[in-house]
Amino acid sequence: TLSHFEPMSERYKITFAEIGGLEKLKREANLKIIQPFKNPELFKRFKKQAGGGILLYGPPGCGKSYFARAIAGECGATFFNVGIDQILDMYVGNSEKNLKHLFQSARNVKPAILFVDEIDALGRRRDLLRHTNMTSTINAFLAELDGVESDNSDLLIIGATNAPWDVDSAFRRPGRFDRTLFIPPPDEHAREEIFRLLLEGIPSQNLHLSELAKLTPHFSGADLKGVVDRAGEAVIEEILEVEEGRVLLQDDLLKEISDSKPTTMEW
Ligand code: ATP
Repeated sequence: TLSHFEPMSERYKITFAEIGGLEKLKREANLKIIQPFKNPELFKRFKKQAGGGILLYGPPGCGKSYFARAIAGECGATFFNVGIDQILDMYVGNSEKNLKHLFQSARNVKPAILFVDEIDALGRRRDLLRHTNMTSTINAFLAELDGVESDNSDLLIIGATNAPWDVDSAFRRPGRFDRTLFIPPPDEHAREEIFRLLLEGIPSQNLHLSELAKLTPHFSGADLKGVVDRAGEAVIEEILEVEEGRVLLQDDLLKEISDSKPTTMEW
């Protein structure tokens, strides 16, 4: 069965304001990725056009998908979020057809952004491949990236991976995924910002976000979200059982932090 590709709804897009930390990356992405979409004339004068390929890499849960969604929100392009299993198909020839169809859907609504998570599953170094028929899928993908048969201007392809070293070097050539952005685990300042965003609007009292940030080294953004979610659930449970006016307190968060393990240790 061939996949059908639909753009994500506008609501799926976010803005840079919703991302904690990563200030330097936001500035870099603004200049190199977003402004070419917003001021095409200026960039054309310097012989640059919007689009191309970018590889986002870094530990899981630190905002690669989130960052891609924010790029979409900031540059006002149509956004396609593609899972690798929407492309790979066990029947010979179908993966190639899916790829063609995907790029065609995106070119039809340019300017557009294609976000492909876990790109290493597609662009895996050939020496790691077990199925030889993957080669034709990879070649089909490279042909689409190169725009061999079609015009890729105003088409941005963002690939994300936790394992950049597994990505085939053919993917990294000029004109393909020739720009790489590392999305690091959040540092203390970024963790404070992420806590601020996650806790915004939740009924609470006397929170000290800087203390929470200090106590969560190696926590990913997703780990921090887990802490806030679980602390909130515990408070809701208490409210339902006994205390109507109970709000979220520092101790609720401290307890969840001490019960949690960070996931970005090795990075
Ligand atoms: P994976 O590799 O597992 O797909 P990822 O790096 O793409 O992970 P996201 O899915 O973008 O990570 O992040 C997971 C969740 O963690 C987000 O939905 C968001 O709630 C939160 N989060 C991560 N990083 C940030 C951040 N910098 N600011 C705000 N929230 C964040």
